[in-house]
Amino acid sequence: MRGLMMDDPLLITQIMRFAERNFPTSEIISVSADPEPHRYTYAEAFWRARRLANALARLGATPGDRVGTLAWNDHRHFELYYASSCSGAVCHTINPRLFPDQIAYIADHAGDRWIFADPMFAPLLDGLAPRLPRLERVVFLCGPERMPASTLPEAIDYETLIGAETDDYDWPLLEETTASALCYTSGTTGHPKGVLYHHRSTLLHAYAACMPDCMNLANRDTVLAIVPMFHANAWCLPYACPMVGAHLVLPGPRMGDPAALTELIQDEQVNCSMGVPTVWLGLLQYLQDSGREIPSLERIVVGGAACPPMLIEAFEQRHAVRVHHSWGMTEMSPLGVFNSPTRVSESLTPPEREAIGRKQGRGVFGVEMRIVDDDGAELPWDGEQPGGLQVRGPWVCGSYFHSDDDEAHGADGWFDTGDVATIDPLGFMQITDRSKDVIKSGGEWISSIELENLAMSHPGVAEAAVIAIADPKWSERPLLVVVRKPGAAVDAEALIEWYKGKVADWWIPDTVRFVDELPHTATGKLAKAQLRRQMAESA
Ligand code: AMP
Repeated sequence: MRGLMMDDPLLITQIMRFAERNFPTSEIISVSADPEPHRYTYAEAFWRARRLANALARLGATPGDRVGTLAWNDHRHFELYYASSCSGAVCHTINPRLFPDQIAYIADHAGDRWIFADPMFAPLLDGLAPRLPRLERVVFLCGPERMPASTLPEAIDYETLIGAETDDYDWPLLEETTASALCYTSGTTGHPKGVLYHHRSTLLHAYAACMPDCMNLANRDTVLAIVPMFHANAWCLPYACPMVGAHLVLPGPRMGDPAALTELIQDEQVNCSMGVPTVWLGLLQYLQDSGREIPSLERIVVGGAACPPMLIEAFEQRHAVRVHHSWGMTEMSPLGVFNSPTRVSESLTPPEREAIGRKQGRGVFGVEMRIVDDDGAELPWDGEQPGGLQVRGPWVCGSYFHSDDDEAHGADGWFDTGDVATIDPLGFMQITDRSKDVIKSGGEWISSIELENLAMSHPGVAEAAVIAIADPKWSERPLLVVVRKPGAAVDAEALIEWYKGKVADWWIPDTVRFVDELPHTATGKLAKAQLRRQMAESA
């Protein structure tokens, strides 16, 4: 028997309508290409989104067309998220930190007809445009006064484009599985692959993100989104914040600048923020050096890469900021697990609680997960045995955009994350490695993440990476590569000593190398393949 409830589709458009009606005065504060931070309300943002939707229609956008963005976290990018998706087009966010060749590949593969770009990317686009035959026009995210010099024919500034339109626009009633946004994965192997989100997946994911044991977002929050809008929908904050009417603070191109972030936190009384570990390590160092304080900040979410335990300790003990570890992927919209205490974990001893707090977290309702051995057999949740981590659910990628490769889901409908993890009896998942980064020494696995975290807890270490090197006896041994803190004199012996008693002796790296910096991917993760090449070349 069919139920008799209304069939309203789950659309991003509903977030916009709801926020306009219920939270017209909640604000978006944004750093952009303009000299002063920009401040306006959700009501004004969505009013401008209607003008932009009219502009897209005038440009000739038809359902399913891809609208490329090459932009930081700012208010115009926010308007693009809504105007393109809710008018039936697809908001294709491109990571500007990628190499130009990758950007050209991605924009061409997506078939972007327009690219809306921060003015600072004018030279990049001048170079790329000849390689993008389907690109019709570039719109620079600024007013006429900041229009960059550009060789692109018909390039126009955003304010002139939308200034010519009315705010009278009827959002179409779309099917809930209509594609809304497209984001390419970091592409550590082969070409980047496109993840094509739909309205329903985005809406359900944003709902889940707001739940109390997840990001716990509420109307009284002021949220600083340091996670980029060009990568995995800024962890859904541009959807979840208007859903509850929280103030949203967007740091524009100053995302990696701890002094600017400190100012935004202080000026806007930010109480909650999300970012990758590199951002938080930079902020901690800045606060220590400058002596500045961020008393309004109550909690942060750390994900995108493993959160070093020293980061949790430093924020909680020095700044009274609660740290939540989280794990996800572009293919998962991106939320997978989130670390919040449970009734049982709260009743444990402080060291046990700390150990659990360091794990990536528990499944968020909507994501099913399991770990499997090399033959695909499911492993127990005993917190001991690591296995290949697989997931499925309504906001997990089913297959990649315009790709023959059905790597996204195995035959049995599970998505293989490529991560190796344990899951404990309380359901807390801990990533021990990427499957391709795993170190297997004498047939046993060594967790590179655990060794990295321990190295980074040494007071003289700024950053550390552990990779496998070939070994005639053990087949592989761990190599520790370290960036010292400025002025620190820590040496290999001291680090090897540091590990003693903290991990099994056979885990301890035999070799330590010191470098000035470690290679990172465009999304701030350690680029281990590149590091392995560098180490091999300089061996
Ligand atoms: P991306 O799709 O670029 O966001 O990358 C997703 C990958 O980042 C995951 O498959 C993990 O390998 C890694 N990752 C994300 N969050 C974490 C975390 N909290 N701890 C360890 N690795 C993480």
